[in-house]
Amino acid sequence: MNMLFAEHILLSHGTHSQWHNNKTLLIDNGVIVDIVDGQLDGADIAEGPVIPGMVNCHSHAFQRGFAGFSEQGSQGNDSFWTWRKIMYQFLDVISVEQAQVIANQLYIEMVKAGYTRVAEFHYLHHQPDGQNYHQLAAMADALFDAAEQAGIGITMLPVLYRYSGFGPLPANDGQKRFINDVEQFNQLVSDCFASASKRANANVGIAPHSLRAVDKPSLQAAVTHVRNLDATAPIHIHIAEQQKEVNDCHAHYGMRPVQWLLDNMSIDQHWCLIHATHIDQQELQGIVDAGAVAGICPTTEANLGDGIFPTTEFISKGGRVAIGSDSHISVSAIEELRLLEYAQRLVRQQRAILADNQTPSVGQFLWHHTAQAGALSTSSNSGELAVGKQADLIVLSNERNSLFANSTKHLLDSVVFASQASPIKDVMVNGQWVVRDGKHAQEQQVADRFATVLQDLAGNR
Ligand code: ZN
Repeated sequence: MNMLFAEHILLSHGTHSQWHNNKTLLIDNGVIVDIVDGQLDGADIAEGPVIPGMVNCHSHAFQRGFAGFSEQGSQGNDSFWTWRKIMYQFLDVISVEQAQVIANQLYIEMVKAGYTRVAEFHYLHHQPDGQNYHQLAAMADALFDAAEQAGIGITMLPVLYRYSGFGPLPANDGQKRFINDVEQFNQLVSDCFASASKRANANVGIAPHSLRAVDKPSLQAAVTHVRNLDATAPIHIHIAEQQKEVNDCHAHYGMRPVQWLLDNMSIDQHWCLIHATHIDQQELQGIVDAGAVAGICPTTEANLGDGIFPTTEFISKGGRVAIGSDSHISVSAIEELRLLEYAQRLVRQQRAILADNQTPSVGQFLWHHTAQAGALSTSSNSGELAVGKQADLIVLSNERNSLFANSTKHLLDSVVFASQASPIKDVMVNGQWVVRDGKHAQEQQVADRFATVLQDLAGNR
């Protein structure tokens, strides 16, 4: 049994969160088994305010390897689709060992940035020539290992990718490492379940890549298989990131993508709609009614010029939003939340929007809301601090917060909107400290290996 005393701690009260003073958490087997008043003898002392760890609902780990490579201007002729071309060139050469080093670097950056769990939307399955690895789940296992080494919880979402576009159009050469038929895909999913069962803080769902990359029979078969393995397995899908995708879907199905999904699959709270960017009012209401989570990736969506999700309307109608770092152009939960709110301010010409009467602090509202929705989107027992929840938490730095530490009322507003450097001091995942005093034990060693991998990959370009 471990004990942690906190002078200030943000505890969950279900739909909202509240600051409490002088509490000791009792932690057994990674789970908070009790929260008592005062400081118990022998308790570890948190050297700053304690908040829940954030869940990152959307990651493609290998993309960390070329973040920043595609920022060369071409007078407005660059788009998501030209970025994707660069991405395909990069992943044409990457090995299992290299992918693991990149993921290890990324996951260490994530825990340092306050993410205690990541949903890995994993589609780099096969060898560069498209042949299976000897073990079908070799790449997935490399990512499980990377997460374990970094100490972050992982929700593995093997991606079903079959086609290059509606029709269906056959996969192109750049996509050969992603492709599985449904039978092989379901085997891969079963293999991932077997891998996760041997690990401490891992679970598995699936990710049909997008409506353009799967057809209805394969989507249904994959969902049936995973739901037979686990009735609450998370199912994530890229749904309406680009206007072109919406137009193509409409041309093929006579329906917008979210509407098609709502009409053709039984969508529930274990579904997460990644980049539900382009939706109409009916689709918005449909996602809320189904209870599905909207997975929004503010910095990537801004970087790729995708568009702006109607976050204000969605949350005010009772919708739930989780955040993801997706392409990893930023690996900072704080920056994602700041941009999530700022995009709404710019569109609506208003201020302090994403909050409610119970929690007027935008920073506190967003932290609680997105961490809780992130936990739902990963079917994980995390995202909030309460008895029975996993001990995934962050200790904020008292020095970095010195200007506003005297009032918890404004603390998370200052963290989200006014941090000039990371205010994250210590991070605990599943009851274990993985970041102490802003440092991860393996950060230097992994950073050196990451630099070598990038050099090798650059030599291959
Ligand atoms: Zn994505």
